[in-house]
Amino acid sequence: MIDTALPPMPEFEPGSVWLVGAGPGDPGLLTLLAVHALAHADVVVYDALVDPGILALVKPGTPLDYAGKRGGKPSPKQPDISAKLIRFARRGLRVLRLKGGDPFVFGRGGEEALALVASNIPFRIVPGVTSGIGGLAYAGIPVTHRDINSAVTFITGHNTDGKVPDGLDWDAIAKGSPVIVLYMALKHLHEIAARLVTGGRNPSEPVAIVARATTKDQQVIETTLGTCVADSEAIGIEPPAIVAIGGVVRLRAALDWQGAAEGKQLDADPLQRLLMTAIGA
Ligand code: SAH
Repeated sequence: MIDTALPPMPEFEPGSVWLVGAGPGDPGLLTLLAVHALAHADVVVYDALVDPGILALVKPGTPLDYAGKRGGKPSPKQPDISAKLIRFARRGLRVLRLKGGDPFVFGRGGEEALALVASNIPFRIVPGVTSGIGGLAYAGIPVTHRDINSAVTFITGHNTDGKVPDGLDWDAIAKGSPVIVLYMALKHLHEIAARLVTGGRNPSEPVAIVARATTKDQQVIETTLGTCVADSEAIGIEPPAIVAIGGVVRLRAALDWQGAAEGKQLDADPLQRLLMTAIGA
């Protein structure tokens, strides 16, 4: 499948579990270790967010075990998924646990790995491209840019209880975090935006919402903190989506490389630095 020589890869031992990040969607964003694992797994336990184009890379006949929500039924409980991984490994299978994005970023990878440790199952962690970085890059938004921010904060908009995380100091985040990247936040965007504005953020601050990032259905809206809820509702944005808040969103005018490939005119001076220099500002 890959026509150049690959570096040596670790053996996928029978009876072990590889906890692998599948990236945000585009199969081209898989790591070599992920491709190796797909080619050697005896069973794949995958989540809803894993792209079908990635599952197509398994050896023919490999059982694919879906661990996400099925036809309106409640999603399997986390302990059930961990128990299944342990069961498969004890049968001597090479178990590939495939998760969207990176397994350790809002992905419960740590919980599953802890269960493996407790059961003495050998395992390997293979990081993946997380949607909050790679997905934004596909939309032409860097999470850091020297002229704009020297920090970025990743937040889940949705706790295990389904609510906006209350253990966070939203005022401190509003004041101290120049760029905020929200996962799982569409449902509670109204409340989160309100908390940030209450904490001192400007309602005119740029916001981008990137849905189904890196897939052929990628959808991006550029909006502001004050208008993001109305805009996302008007356009009918559906999850999964990443929300980026902060000055880096303005760089999309220059860095929307996918748009450029389709004829969009890029603005080489999205921060208006050249203009300001020219007028002596
Ligand atoms: N481990 C994953 C995150 C899992 S939480 C990662 O590292 O990316 C699920 C959330 O991830 C979704 O609600 C959404 O906010 C985000 N997400 C995952 N894939 C995405 C994609 N292709 N486009 C936009 N957001 C995505």
